[in-house]
Amino acid sequence: MPAAVYVGDGDIQVQHLPVPTLGPNDALVEVSHCGICGTDLHLVLERFARPGSVLGHEWAGTITALGADVTGWETGARVVLDPTPGCGECRACRRGRPAVCLRREPPDLLDFSRGAFCRYKLVPASRLVRVPEMLSTRAAALTEPTAIAIHTVNLAHVGTDDRVLVTGGGPVGLLTTSVLRSRGVHEIVVSEPAPARRERALAVGAAAVVTPDELPRAPMGRPVESPFTVVFECSGHGSAAESALDQLDYAGTFVFVGTGSPPPRVNHNRVIVMEQKIIGAYNYDAAGFRPALDLLASGALPLDLLIEPVDIGLDQILSTMHRLAAGELPGKVMVTPEVSA
Ligand SMILES: [Zn+2]
Ligand SMILES: [Zn+2]
Repeated sequence: MPAAVYVGDGDIQVQHLPVPTLGPNDALVEVSHCGICGTDLHLVLERFARPGSVLGHEWAGTITALGADVTGWETGARVVLDPTPGCGECRACRRGRPAVCLRREPPDLLDFSRGAFCRYKLVPASRLVRVPEMLSTRAAALTEPTAIAIHTVNLAHVGTDDRVLVTGGGPVGLLTTSVLRSRGVHEIVVSEPAPARRERALAVGAAAVVTPDELPRAPMGRPVESPFTVVFECSGHGSAAESALDQLDYAGTFVFVGTGSPPPRVNHNRVIVMEQKIIGAYNYDAAGFRPALDLLASGALPLDLLIEPVDIGLDQILSTMHRLAAGELPGKVMVTPEVSA
């Protein structure tokens, strides 16, 4: 089968790999679409990935074969893969946070070796979730990042009276904005340097957009003139985070969503005096991917704005990653397991 393989030195090549062998409890899924994630960008462009690995974790597909012991599924079923459930016993699980279960396998970012930038994926059938009839398989590939956006908004306990700043208008910032809008939050400002992304942020429902240099520096120990009660830092840039922290109000909540380096400097004095909360959001809610599938199927999200109109083949992943890193493409780019050249 064709697969986009990371070969080292920031390069990806299409290779032909054997189709994985089915075990008794497995399902073989033909990947329909797989989105390119910011994590994939870091892994390839910053060369963290292990050579030989196949990236891509935001996918949906169709079952083509089932192991002998699998029940409750049939070939042709459209599916996504639910996150691993927690152990149910550790401190994180007891606090309703199975996505950071203390006994989970470490998130070995260096070895995302069995990703979905390829035609077939072997998965444990017990973790499959059916794609609702109302939802296309292509749009279902947005399930994983949508689950993250839902989790992010839930962790911040955003209410309809909050005034929200989203820094970074790429796929994550746009999804976060859309989920906020679906919750009835209206006062959302998106800060983003790239014009195409600012434009798209308005289209998905931001009340206003600004460029990062329009955000004021904060006076010492006091809020800026128009502060925000909740800030989602989706860009992953340390400097954006520092500026975003300046915009946070008394008792405000700041959420780190985007990863990146170098890290920001945090003025702890300001956080103390203004009694602010700084949290991170990485994974999913206890309910896994089902709330995301329901939200995507509900029609409440502007899917045609969140997903770029043109899908790409496996051989176009690298060039598209460079375009994404440059901020040229606002929405999620979907990869199909084809070779166009
Ligand atoms: Zn991702
Ligand atoms: Zn646990």
